[in-house]
Amino acid sequence: MDRYSRQIRFPGVGPDGQRRLQAAAVLVVGVGALGTHAAETLVRAGIGRLVLVDRDVVEWSNLQRQVLFTEADAAAGLPKAVAAAARLRAIDAACRIDAHAADCSRAFLDALPVLPDLVLDGTDNFATRYLLNDWCARRQRPWIYAGAVGAEGAAMVVPATGPCLRCLWPEPPAMADVGSCETAGILAPAIAAVTAFQTAEALKLLVGAEPVRGVFTCDVWRGSYQVLAGSLQPAPDCPVCQRRSFPALEAAPTSAVTLCGRDAVQVDPPRQHGLDLDGLAARLRGSVEALDRTPHLLRFAADGCRFSVFPGGRALLFGVHDPLRARALYDRWIGSS
Ligand SMILES: [Zn+2]
Repeated sequence: MDRYSRQIRFPGVGPDGQRRLQAAAVLVVGVGALGTHAAETLVRAGIGRLVLVDRDVVEWSNLQRQVLFTEADAAAGLPKAVAAAARLRAIDAACRIDAHAADCSRAFLDALPVLPDLVLDGTDNFATRYLLNDWCARRQRPWIYAGAVGAEGAAMVVPATGPCLRCLWPEPPAMADVGSCETAGILAPAIAAVTAFQTAEALKLLVGAEPVRGVFTCDVWRGSYQVLAGSLQPAPDCPVCQRRSFPALEAAPTSAVTLCGRDAVQVDPPRQHGLDLDGLAARLRGSVEALDRTPHLLRFAADGCRFSVFPGGRALLFGVHDPLRARALYDRWIGSS
């Protein structure tokens, strides 16, 4: 316990709080800028089990703010969940870490071997946030929303009983309205400020302390930090936390989705389960460029597009942002989507 002595000395945690942290399981969805900051803080704080899920691979433009990754990870094109888990295990070998290079779909969440005590939002898109919102409401688990773009960030604890994300925004905001890292850029201190709020609230929830009710917002360039409280009440007709229907859990999964802030599309066709990467590599050899079979995936370039194909058939296509074109390229080089 000596490594946690400074945290145990803090009255809000104490020896009992530390034991609670060590018994806790937390799911971090998205292991990019937000997720790497949050995961590192929780592992250093001594949580017992961490489940990481991310669909992306490490790229050079991530290194400016995604604190667990190195140049070697980017050069190797490692899945973010895998690279993050390796670094986190070096930080605290006692923490049990499950890393999933996968899409956080409803099927993924339902198949989790452990029901997490808490879910942290490290995503970059509202489709996944609404899925988390509905899944957590149904499973009676709290989650903590977080988002950042440019110098600004926002975060909010979503208790299992609401108010929930749909109380604030009945429909997902359009990406054009909220901006993206691609158009507005992103500053690392905005990530640090938002995840400071998010992880402090996470520690409070896990040790049994009362969380902040309200929306934290900040602009690190202006130097403004505040919690907008008061107005945050459950919407009386909220379909999720009041009427307990869960529209995001019923939505059909889409097989091709453009990744936020990236010139990239994920293609995840339902029929490709069991795709043999070694067989695909043998078939493509000689007709594509930069063919590279790594322990985790198969990489190659063709038609001006870079492909990263994962076991099972999920693929990321870089250099394309139209889902229809991405599916056509997938069909041409990998197989029918
Ligand atoms: Zn609600």
